[in-house]
Amino acid sequence: MNVYDSERMADVLRPLGYAPTDTPDGADFVILNTCHIREKAAEKVYSELGKLRQMKEEKAAAGQGGMTIAVAGCVAQAEGEEIMKRQPAVDLVVGPQAYHQLPELLTRTARARGERIGADFAPNEKFDALPATRGTEGVTAFLTVQEGCDKFCTFCVVPYTRGAEWSRPAAAVLDEARALADRGVREVTLLGQNVNAYDGEGPDGNPFTLAKLAYALADIPGIERIRYTTSHPNDMSDDLIAAHGDLDALMPYLHLPVQAGSDRILRLMNRKHGRQKYLDLIDRIRAARPDMALSGDFIVGFPGETDRDFEDTMDLVRRVNYASAFSFMYSPRPGTPAATMAAQVPDAVAKERLHALQALLTEQQVAFNRSLAGRVLPVLFEKKGRHGAQAIGRSPYLQSVHVEDADQLIGRIFPVEIVSGQQNSLSGRLTQTN
Ligand code: SAH
Ligand code: SF4
Repeated sequence: MNVYDSERMADVLRPLGYAPTDTPDGADFVILNTCHIREKAAEKVYSELGKLRQMKEEKAAAGQGGMTIAVAGCVAQAEGEEIMKRQPAVDLVVGPQAYHQLPELLTRTARARGERIGADFAPNEKFDALPATRGTEGVTAFLTVQEGCDKFCTFCVVPYTRGAEWSRPAAAVLDEARALADRGVREVTLLGQNVNAYDGEGPDGNPFTLAKLAYALADIPGIERIRYTTSHPNDMSDDLIAAHGDLDALMPYLHLPVQAGSDRILRLMNRKHGRQKYLDLIDRIRAARPDMALSGDFIVGFPGETDRDFEDTMDLVRRVNYASAFSFMYSPRPGTPAATMAAQVPDAVAKERLHALQALLTEQQVAFNRSLAGRVLPVLFEKKGRHGAQAIGRSPYLQSVHVEDADQLIGRIFPVEIVSGQQNSLSGRLTQTN
């Protein structure tokens, strides 16, 4: 979501004559787009700001003019005032629902430092104000369709930083997708904190589901692949599951976080479903789309988690058999209910659990990648590889696929015979070239 937002910030600033640079050295304007989800991400902001301050001073000392520094994203939203206090080099902070105001903020900051614009705006104002054309390059693109969250899992800051759940009208999403297709985009990944809770206004004024949106997107000439992330198990509706069975453009890869495998911990997390409901859901999804590759998010060391609870997580992972997954040590976030729960798990215990879980998840990922050897998969070629005429593409299951002598195919989908699977990618060869 931050990648999407950063691209859109560039779109907003382009008419003012700004163009993206590869490094911040010497830039006139630097925006640090930040994440507040875990403490580590938030802490990084201050160390990055220290480096930027030095660059700013060096640029001024060399007589090369000023450097305006902005902090955007969820850390700006949650800690804007503290950032201004702790790092005087920062000129402005802008929350995730207000970045469309960057041009205006830039002119204001010339007058007075510290006029803070927060996220006290509705997301529709932001999306209405964003330019219709995007500067996106490449054959895949993110497209935000839903923002915010009302679920209030007890560990999570998202409902506080991104605000309430809100979906963009289908017409706006479809227009943006058409513009992307015109620029050569073949695969769109629909984004939302709870993307499958999407209920934006449909063409007849009634709410559209994510499944309906997917069908409408698949009708756009040029859009050949559709993905979406992140989904919540409780919003995995029947029509979306059915769409996976009959809409070819909907890719057989689903990121469906469960966080933990113990009913007790799921309850403490306020996830509003138990382990069996998740396992049954996986069965129904696999019944609709037998080759569905599953991915998930896991938190270990949630307050009160015992060895027994953790074993339930390991057991759930063994039952589901994930194609890939993200796992994290619980990080207490200010203002969330879990941060003040008793029985915080010692770091050393959480670390040990994380290692065990990651070893199992890696084993499953490697096994899945290896199991594809010998299969012929449609690959969307995205970019040149590191050497010669190698090209890198994506399988339906989201793995990177390296193929020799394929750079002339970038932007197109071609059948590739998978030769081998490694931990993080596949190698393949073309079975036909025209
Ligand atoms: N809406 C998505 C998750 C968005 S946050 C969902 O409900 O599944 C992305 C991931 O960050 C979460 O799935 C969770 O695994 C992790 N996460 C969120 N808060 C965290 C915290 N306080 N500590 C550790 N991991 C956290
Ligand atoms: Fe955070 Fe996801 Fe829970 Fe919402 S549903 S509170 S975004 S973890």
